[in-house]
Amino acid sequence: MTILDGKKIAADVLAECQEEIEALKAKGVIPGLAVVLIGEDPASQVYVNSKVRKCGEMGIYSRKIELPVDATQEEVLQVVRDLNAEEAIHGILVQSPPPPQIDEHDIINLIDPRKDVDGFHPVNVGKLVMEDPTGFVPCTPSGCVRLLRESGIETSGANVVVIGRSLIVGKPLALLLMAKGVNATVTVAHSRTKDLAALCRQADIIVAAIGKTGFVTADFVKEGAVVIDVGINRVEDATKKRGFRLVGDVAYDEVAPKCHAITPVPGGVGPMTIALLICNTVKAAGLRVQENS
Ligand code: NAD
Repeated sequence: MTILDGKKIAADVLAECQEEIEALKAKGVIPGLAVVLIGEDPASQVYVNSKVRKCGEMGIYSRKIELPVDATQEEVLQVVRDLNAEEAIHGILVQSPPPPQIDEHDIINLIDPRKDVDGFHPVNVGKLVMEDPTGFVPCTPSGCVRLLRESGIETSGANVVVIGRSLIVGKPLALLLMAKGVNATVTVAHSRTKDLAALCRQADIIVAAIGKTGFVTADFVKEGAVVIDVGINRVEDATKKRGFRLVGDVAYDEVAPKCHAITPVPGGVGPMTIALLICNTVKAAGLRVQENS
């Protein structure tokens, strides 16, 4: 059984990005990312801070824009309009989920698709469907596919079950996995899927993106399968200083012994997500340079 080292692979991906960053800097361009956080959701704060920290480590410009939990739709829209117009900003992301009074779709629709480094704008979703490489692909799914590729896991003709159909993970991941070059045969399962464990037992690769601690148990997994755990869940843990620890959607201890390869949580998909966000920001800056030349 191999533990797929997301941290190591993310570091390799970032090293490639670093070269592109230096090439852009030589042309006088510093990639810039703006991260908008509405409210004080603790998990969102952690994600936003780690994204900003990584930008700093990579020598790219970042700006964190914090809005109060009772921010209005118009206030958020105005922030996005300003960022769309700002030269120094190449990538914009609005951390999900926003508070309930905010219509996330309206916000995403307003982001300039060329700055939509989360890949949620309909133009980029369309480009993903059409396999147009000029679009931006959501970071977590592209991180999963990159992790498989860099780990030498065969996806061509593989039966993959993706559990979860969200716009952030499940749906774009299914599109990426079935695309030319990856060539998997994909089944997307969700909360209404029947006989999920039996379906998963046929899979060569299972991707769990559900948001439920330990949901995928040993009886979901055939011997020799590859399991990618996207879930990030907090469970109380009095032995930890912060009072909780992070676990995935897979019951790791019972599943791992059956696997050919498995991602840990933390240290699997999470670091890949941030690496791919940096790549998307660098790509946005590069496309702008091309556009202006
Ligand atoms: P979501 O809540 O939007 O979607 C969950 C999906 O799980 C839904 O499509 C639903 O149909 C499916 N589901 C729920 N119960 C089910 C059941 N009983 N059987 C089968 N399917 C069921 O969540 P999301 O935004 O896609 O995130 C999923 C998980 O991934 C969460 O734990 C989240 O924290 C994590 N996540 C991690 C990263 C990362 O960087 N590693 C990024 C995004 C999300």
